Amino acid sequence: RSAEILKQQEELETSALNYPKYFSIAVKEAKGSTIVDVDNNVYIDWFAGIAVVNLGHNNPIIRQAVDSQLDKIWHYMEIPTEIRIEFMKTLRRTLNFDAKFLFTTTGADAVEAAVKIARWNSGKRYIIAFNEAYHGVSAATIGLSNMLNHRKFQPYYDNNVIRLPYPYEYRCPFKDCLNEVLSLVDYEMKNNDVAGIIVEPVAGEGGYIVPPKGFLKGLREITTEYNVPLIIDEIQTGVGRTGKIWAYEWEGIKPDIVTISKGIGEGIPISLVAFNKDLDKLPQAFHLGTYRGNPIGMAVGNATLNYIMNSNLLERVITLGDFTKKRFDEIMEDNYKQGKYDVRGLGFMIGIEFSNERKDPISVKPFIDILLKKGIIMYKSGIYDNVLRYMAPLTIPKLLIDRGLEKFEETIKLSNQ
Ligand code: PMP
Repeated sequence: RSAEILKQQEELETSALNYPKYFSIAVKEAKGSTIVDVDNNVYIDWFAGIAVVNLGHNNPIIRQAVDSQLDKIWHYMEIPTEIRIEFMKTLRRTLNFDAKFLFTTTGADAVEAAVKIARWNSGKRYIIAFNEAYHGVSAATIGLSNMLNHRKFQPYYDNNVIRLPYPYEYRCPFKDCLNEVLSLVDYEMKNNDVAGIIVEPVAGEGGYIVPPKGFLKGLREITTEYNVPLIIDEIQTGVGRTGKIWAYEWEGIKPDIVTISKGIGEGIPISLVAFNKDLDKLPQAFHLGTYRGNPIGMAVGNATLNYIMNSNLLERVITLGDFTKKRFDEIMEDNYKQGKYDVRGLGFMIGIEFSNERKDPISVKPFIDILLKKGIIMYKSGIYDNVLRYMAPLTIPKLLIDRGLEKFEETIKLSNQ
């Protein structure tokens, strides 16, 4: 049945799709951390719709929030609703700066708005972004992202981006990775018309790369010195995924602008920009769009944040994240004989990078295929598709982590045959 549906999709939908090339199943339903395909095979979900359903599929708390908002209103532009105000108040309690909000629809839309806010306020031109960055692929964001298949479009959309190395310690060309990267940032800032910096606290699509401690702090100091905004892209790292509501909290910095999406909507499309109220000197109708700020998304966002603040979910992510990372490391050490590897992560963002002895990247597609056959949905990351990433729902039962790790170990063992 899956094969038949995939065939129909191929006939109807563009051939440029990505995910069906990795997961050749048609999904019937999902609950918690499991997915059921149309042939009734059950899979453990370590993908979470690309780090979106943080509280698990079909979570009753989220369902309740959707249902009660459906009874009230579904769409009314920027005219305030009670949920709009309530959501912003809840959100403000999670942020460590005096924030105002601008609603958007997708991650890329939030990034576009964030960059516009930085340029409008600083009156400057260039945005500094990093090598392993991913901030969306709309016309205004593709220049900020740097995955291989996006680079060919960059010349058509000159987004005035200065690209610098991310402190990627496994592949850092510098001796003192952190300080040499920061000194390049400082040099560009001093010598160019830089409007702001955009950075992911953990590089997501770029390979689940955790930068060394002090990176965000260093960027904060430099942007403060030159008086331009620091934009923290929390679209993938936010809403509890790293064990803090916002990953920037790990460095104790105060951002100027934060982009938020994915986990805040649990699958309902919503995104927004939180920015320091001092930057709110924007002209009327600065950023528009019919579907920005959907009330159902806001109800979900409000329920999600309240759940996180009133439960032990964050401690769970830290403890289980450390456990899972350690197990991946042990499994790799005992079983991966083809070359070098690197296991890294923060909370439920864990990356396992594969390379040969010379550190040339090795594609993880064959591992993904085997894992899928064994009932585990696990996706890749990294510019060279050579990183497996663990991004399960934050509520996944320990049993499904253990079961998945067993299958992961079998998979790595097979690769040596
Ligand atoms: N920023 C980051 C850090 C992301 O991970 C993503 C999506 N993977 C985006 C921006 C773009 O979001 P969207 O796909 O909703 O446009």
